[in-house]
Amino acid sequence: MAELETDIRYIKGVGEAKAKALSKLGIHTLRELVSYFPRAYDDRSVFKRIDELIVGENACVAAVVASPPRLSRVRKGLDITRFRAVDETGSISITFFNQSYIKDSFKVGETYVFYGRVVGKIGQPEFTNPVFEKEGANQTTGRIMPVYHLTAGVSQNFIAKAVAQGLLECGDVLPDPLPPVVRSERKFAQARYAYNNIHFPKDFEALELSRRRFIFEELCVLSCAMALLKSRRVVKHGKALKKCDIDEFYASLPFELTGAQKRSIDEALGDMYKPVPMSRLVQGDVGSGKTVVAAACCFAAVRSGGQAAFMAPTEILAEQHFKTLTALLEPFGMRITLLTGGLKAKEKREAYAAIESGETDIIVGTHALISGGVVYKDLTLVVADEQHRFGVQQRAALGQKGDSPHILVMSATPIPRTLALIIYGEMDVSVIDELPPGRQPIDTYAVGEDMRARIYAFMRKQVEAGRQVYVVCPMVEENEEYDENLKSVKEYAEKLQNAVFPDLKIALLHGRMKPNEKEAVMTAFSAGEIDVLVATTVIEVGVDVPNASLMVVENADRFGLSQLHQLRGRIGRGEHKSYCVLFEGSGGSVSRERLKVMCETNDGFKISEADLRLRGPGDFFGKRQHGLPELKVANFATDMTVLKDAKDAADEVIMRDPSLSSPDNAGLRSYIDAMIEKSADILN
Ligand code: ADP
Ligand code: MG
Repeated sequence: MAELETDIRYIKGVGEAKAKALSKLGIHTLRELVSYFPRAYDDRSVFKRIDELIVGENACVAAVVASPPRLSRVRKGLDITRFRAVDETGSISITFFNQSYIKDSFKVGETYVFYGRVVGKIGQPEFTNPVFEKEGANQTTGRIMPVYHLTAGVSQNFIAKAVAQGLLECGDVLPDPLPPVVRSERKFAQARYAYNNIHFPKDFEALELSRRRFIFEELCVLSCAMALLKSRRVVKHGKALKKCDIDEFYASLPFELTGAQKRSIDEALGDMYKPVPMSRLVQGDVGSGKTVVAAACCFAAVRSGGQAAFMAPTEILAEQHFKTLTALLEPFGMRITLLTGGLKAKEKREAYAAIESGETDIIVGTHALISGGVVYKDLTLVVADEQHRFGVQQRAALGQKGDSPHILVMSATPIPRTLALIIYGEMDVSVIDELPPGRQPIDTYAVGEDMRARIYAFMRKQVEAGRQVYVVCPMVEENEEYDENLKSVKEYAEKLQNAVFPDLKIALLHGRMKPNEKEAVMTAFSAGEIDVLVATTVIEVGVDVPNASLMVVENADRFGLSQLHQLRGRIGRGEHKSYCVLFEGSGGSVSRERLKVMCETNDGFKISEADLRLRGPGDFFGKRQHGLPELKVANFATDMTVLKDAKDAADEVIMRDPSLSSPDNAGLRSYIDAMIEKSADILN
């Protein structure tokens, strides 16, 4: 019996070269081999008689080879092996291309099972390159076959064989993190049964039973890991804020706060008045008014004699927050400093000095505020805006500056509550579930190319009415294709200027521009000096230009729904009726279905649910942005109820055995250790 950590080289039938290929799939050990689950299944369990075959369907046929296979060379590089096979109901023509050796695999008069897609004409069925084996072998036909993700140098057959061999060599010791009590309480399948049937299902019922176990297992391990991290969050001593008169701040606002805003502020202040560092997430849809909630917290921190750092994901947004906070808090004598990459060396030095000496109270910038060498006099509060851009790691880094400051994180990505409990497991959550009064829903239309001329006319009409327009182009921001992409966005903007709107002021905004160039463009757009702003997703977060009333999105199919929702949040910020036009691009019917969601609702929660359902969490959060390890079997969208159950189980396990030191929890413990090690960069 082999140890689970055995190198796959030593598994019978694998060897040096194949081991190397398998390592590309992340398979290095016996444990990883048996845990390499199929991505899909091929149902080869259905047998048909020849007269039942339907063209276009897949089926198995048991048939006798009726004529000797004949090899003919059609031309160089193309030869064909052909013969007929029969059962008591009819005859089928079998053809193999470029497999001249195959003719020796068949003996006339013997029965084989063929599996493949039926082609040919009604009454004259054919198989081309079918899977086949001797009747009764039941290795590759007559059953549900696993379909694995492949890489160069390994075939489906090879992986299936290696896995089967691996399962054999494991004996009784299979990877199994579920504590026995959790498993038996929920009547999940035994590990042996589950592993056998997730790879080589006896039937679909067995497959489902096994899948259910692994989904639960995966979500339970994840929940335990998050619960463990949370319990490890040593309750540090923090600084309790002196109580302030927040009504004074409320009274200075140009509007009445919504109930949800007030509740969120109360919750945050309640935290900060305690001598334990706050760790709170404020979740609210775009436009729900999160900034003023954060400003209230800054007000309290500064009134208590401390400093606040206000962190934004982009420089544009930092500038904007700087302006907003200055308007809101300078009247109270509070000093606000902007710290961005765009500052000159001298300005930067001065800013650093003011922060260190305590001459400034509120510092607004990007993540450099906590990662760089900024020294604070008395950092009391850290605010991180638009949290979906920060991973768990960065979140943790927030608390490491200064002397355990209070932390307030703001997110515009509405996610279902159970999921939030796991992802933000270590934080308390406030939800702003109410928009400021008077917001008009944005009318959204998904259109095809045939509407382009009319959309251009509509853009012109908006500009003539004094409004401004965003045109958003998809752009891959982080890879080699970037330059290609940038070129096409530039060309697009030029074309729009020269060929469509020669008389309008059009400008371009993208991520590669220098900070001061970006700022110049944004300032000009804010001031109404630009009619149409062609932009990449750099405008996705936070930018606030109330006069912009129309957004046109090119190739909208390339964006996730949640991202489109964020983008759309850039308009409808003023008193003007606003519109969003989504050009469908070439995405086909799935993308049309997705875009329809955008036209039907302005509710971020509904949109994110649809997004999760239609795309899965990987894309939903952006690559690894969610800070969670990849899930192999479970799906955050469809397995939501299991997620809840798994979380309950996890909480119970951790409550009974907080350090997971009992022997029953050893398996679970090792899984979690491995997960934390593997994702050290994102979990720690
Ligand atoms: P987000 O939650 O997307 O960050 P913002 O904080 O940028 O939203 O607020 C969006 C706009 O709504 C801003 O112009 C802000 O001044 C305004 N706003 C915020 N709260 C209210 C309110 N209670 N009543 C009216 N307008 C508000
Ligand atoms: Mg915001």
